Amino acid sequence: MLDADFFRRWMTATAASVDRAADRLTALDSPIGDADHGSNLRRGFAAVTVALEKEAPGTPGAVLVLAGRTLISTVGGASGPLYGTLLRRTGKALGDADAVDEARFAEALRTGVDAVMQLGGAAPGDKTMIDALVPAVDALTDGFGAARAAAEQGAEATTPLQARKGRASYLGERSIGHQDPGATSSALLIAALGEADDAHPADGE
Ligand code: ADP
Ligand code: MG
Repeated sequence: MLDADFFRRWMTATAASVDRAADRLTALDSPIGDADHGSNLRRGFAAVTVALEKEAPGTPGAVLVLAGRTLISTVGGASGPLYGTLLRRTGKALGDADAVDEARFAEALRTGVDAVMQLGGAAPGDKTMIDALVPAVDALTDGFGAARAAAEQGAEATTPLQARKGRASYLGERSIGHQDPGATSSALLIAALGEADDAHPADGE
């Protein structure tokens, strides 16, 4: 079962991973964006870590709702409200359970991804974070490792696509040939699930 501590570890592992990758994410956002994706997410997830320490929410849902709300209020770029909505809506879907199993989490994450598609209007193939998140959710029932591989593959598959949403879409055909920064950071978010899981004290669950 996945408890509040697991979700806290997921967020801190994401913060650490985004921090390490910030320069790469910003470099990806420079040919097809405005070179701020790494700094946007670094600021956002650092604030999430602080908020979680300060408020110490006690349920999985409350951890993700707080994380989402914090991203929305600290990240100025498009990715803040989008990632914020992803986590907030996933958290809301988890309700007030003390712990959830993987299947329930997968279902909740799907609700969150659907909310991102509704908010941003992007569909798979539009060269956005959705191209990593949808395959990840589809693979999640096969475990965190499968979800990670699917997200990484989805992110890499954005390279030949022409952007149809977000800043990169202003470039038209010139957006082709570059990996999408948001899909790349989404793969980090999904990979962090496995790190949060590995860090779990062995308890035979
Ligand atoms: P901004 O584009 O405002 O500078 P960021 O650079 O932080 O924001 O984030 C850019 C990323 O956000 C893109 O690489 C893309 O993955 C994602 N994105 C942008 N617009 C949308 C959208 N409408 N739907 C889904 N994802 C989007
Ligand atoms: Mg940007």
